[in-house]
Amino acid sequence: MRFGAHMSIAGGVDKAFDRAEKAGCDSLQIFTKNSNQWNAKPFDEAVLEAWKQREAETKIGPVVAHDSYLINLASPKDDLWEKSIDAFGIELQRCDQLGIRYLVTHPGSHTGSGEEAGLARVSEALNRLHNDMPELDVITLLETTAGQGTNLGSSFEHLATITSGVEDKLRVGYCLDTCHIFAAGYDFRTPEQYAETMKQFDDLLGIDRLFAIHLNDSKNDLGSRKDRHEHIGQGFIGLDGFRQFVNDKRLANVPGLLETKKSEDLSEDIENLATLRGLVD
Ligand code: ZN
Ligand code: MN
Ligand code: MN
Repeated sequence: MRFGAHMSIAGGVDKAFDRAEKAGCDSLQIFTKNSNQWNAKPFDEAVLEAWKQREAETKIGPVVAHDSYLINLASPKDDLWEKSIDAFGIELQRCDQLGIRYLVTHPGSHTGSGEEAGLARVSEALNRLHNDMPELDVITLLETTAGQGTNLGSSFEHLATITSGVEDKLRVGYCLDTCHIFAAGYDFRTPEQYAETMKQFDDLLGIDRLFAIHLNDSKNDLGSRKDRHEHIGQGFIGLDGFRQFVNDKRLANVPGLLETKKSEDLSEDIENLATLRGLVD
């Protein structure tokens, strides 16, 4: 697995490579803009140059982007849905400018319209974007979620339903978050449980379409439906759960990214990465 972490872009997107290098990352995840705001100012040419230079120097990759938390492609409200489609389109373009192939998104919340309607909305939104930007070479990765409230994506079936409604299926892939699937009720702490969970994933979605993994332990127990990340080995998943993922040969080239709490000096990331690498046989 290509171990890495989500890094801040404070000071410019290219600074994420400095942080990733300092922590000893092989791969990297970023927000291409402030994740709590709708708007973003376009990239300067100089920033794009610096990004490309640092990428070449550090050889860190794959790089994946995560979209803004404001975006809800499942919303039944037309104004928020349209705003979300526009914002997601801009995020796809920003990835394209940076040469990032993968944009991770949470499928969104149906906020009362029901699962079926919500999932159909996501497919429709993606079809619109694909038709509007036929040339764009960025794959949307639907992320598994913990299933809090009316959040969609807490079952592999949800993600399969979204993809079944998308015309250009090669523009969709998946991101598996270990904390989220555990909170959603999928166990993988023993080799047997891991094999069963990944068989379900493969049957419904295809392991060959799994392009990113978020490696987070969970502050809450199996099936809690709570999205609270914990440091590797310090939560309810524990080291045995991560041992399964990091030794799965099918995932050898997949980025395995931390989304755990960190301080400025990145000491927690350094420690979590050492823990993960120590689990590899
Ligand atoms: Zn996410
Ligand atoms: Mn995640
Ligand atoms: Mn989470």
